[in-house]
Amino acid sequence: MQKISVLSAALLVAGFVVGSPSSNAADSPLGYKDTPIIPGQPWHVHDPDRPHPRIVTPAATFSHNAAAPADATVLFDGKDLSKWQNDKGQAAEWKVENGYMEVVAKKGNISTKEEFGDFQLHIEFATPANVQGNSQGRGNSGIFLHGIYEMQVLDSYDNPTYADGQVGAMYGQYPPLVNPVKKPGEWQSYDIIFEAPQFDKDGKLIKKASVTSILNGVVVHHKKEYMGPTQHKELTNYDRVHSSRGPIALQDHGNPMRFRNIWIRPLGEYDKP
Ligand code: MG
Repeated sequence: MQKISVLSAALLVAGFVVGSPSSNAADSPLGYKDTPIIPGQPWHVHDPDRPHPRIVTPAATFSHNAAAPADATVLFDGKDLSKWQNDKGQAAEWKVENGYMEVVAKKGNISTKEEFGDFQLHIEFATPANVQGNSQGRGNSGIFLHGIYEMQVLDSYDNPTYADGQVGAMYGQYPPLVNPVKKPGEWQSYDIIFEAPQFDKDGKLIKKASVTSILNGVVVHHKKEYMGPTQHKELTNYDRVHSSRGPIALQDHGNPMRFRNIWIRPLGEYDKP
């Protein structure tokens, strides 16, 4: 996220970090050494020395244009943003044309009106064909699971940045296992399986959120636990999280990112048809 532009009002109330759009190359360093060491890892948050995942050239298509199954909720069908709202709970003001939505800078993040627990999410994105900026200033957006756990979206095609901030990263926590990025302007697919955090009746965390993520047909995380909600340059934990449900949010980081074909379905449970 390098800096989250705007989060929902609810998250603001909850006190999560909020930043402002950054498209200035001077604001996009290749990493930080003045950040805390991530617990259980030898790396600083956004460590420039953390190894960069190897590049795996993906196939031309995987789940691109995949139609939604019958029990899915279609969140965006290419026509309108009726399932989405801005951080003030008002109509989302991103551009819709030619079957995709596009970030309009300074209009802020948008999030689904509906909230979800455990889910399977399909979403496609394209970074700008007109390449501008570098590092976190190039083709930056993000998919915020439950509105607070970022699966990073970035133009990571020949664009060095810190490993835990490249496309496919659980931002600030884990880089992707490999880098299956496509070229700027090409449509890319994410298939994300998310398990919500669970709390006991007293609100105490008993299970962390975890994610399996497939980017362009390549697994970039498998059942990896989030250490807490996404933060920039800081450590995180679950101290301020008490919900097992939340929206899907998309980040306005100041770049004209495009999204299309977004659908979601509940995971369900074994033996509970
Ligand atoms: Mg981001």
